[in-house]
Amino acid sequence: MPEGDTVYHQASALRAVLAGKFLESTQFRVPQYATADLSGELVEEVLSRGKHLLIRAGETTIQSHLKMEGIWHVYPRNGARWKRPGHTARCVLNTAEHQAVGFSLGELHLMPRTSEDSFFADLGPDLLGPDWDQDEARRRLQAQPERSLGVALLDQRNLAGIGNVFRSEICFLSRLRPETPVGEVADLDSVLEMSYRLLQVNKNRSRRATTGSASTAISLWTYGRAGKLCLRCQTPIIRYYLGEEQLRQAAIEDRSVYVCPYCQPARV
Ligand SMILES: [Zn+2]
Repeated sequence: MPEGDTVYHQASALRAVLAGKFLESTQFRVPQYATADLSGELVEEVLSRGKHLLIRAGETTIQSHLKMEGIWHVYPRNGARWKRPGHTARCVLNTAEHQAVGFSLGELHLMPRTSEDSFFADLGPDLLGPDWDQDEARRRLQAQPERSLGVALLDQRNLAGIGNVFRSEICFLSRLRPETPVGEVADLDSVLEMSYRLLQVNKNRSRRATTGSASTAISLWTYGRAGKLCLRCQTPIIRYYLGEEQLRQAAIEDRSVYVCPYCQPARV
């Protein structure tokens, strides 16, 4: 599932072939931008902001969000076959040597570069950004002390980059139930440090891992492991829904959390 590390990784791959290159032709296969044309523009930068991917070309920013299914591929311009169905392509950017194709993008917007700040005005500090600000993230989390940690960590207005996989892993490694109200988390800073460490260590990996090594067979502690044994204590992992209103609105995410009932004791 695309989370901050995935988007960072995809931005790096696109940067390698697009940055410093001129776009020879472009296609935006969404009605709103069907006639947009950025051919002739120089790609200056490709970067991630939380779970958003930004391509700055000339005076324009191409913003995309992978949501559930989206992915960017890079192909040589010599006619290589796409590995996804053509009808799912939403954005095609051609340089002299490469073709970058965004498939099944959950969001695609073109905007003047000067509008970026207002577009992202609500986005919290980016765990993988150059301006990560832990104090600001803590302040935003603490502003709603009654919210459960599992919901608050997913809210990109608090901090940007965490999705459903990482929130379960962060709660496990912090030995906290996802439903714990933020105001009852004794050491929010260590939760934030854990979040930062997990995303940083995964930002250049092709396979996400929180257990120490991407090469081991089991790379995650709890996520996706309902009914399997906890790697620490051998208790079966359980899965459930947090069920808060805020979370129900986040229809794009798989909403369940995975918990080891022993390592993450329920509050009494
Ligand atoms: Zn356990």
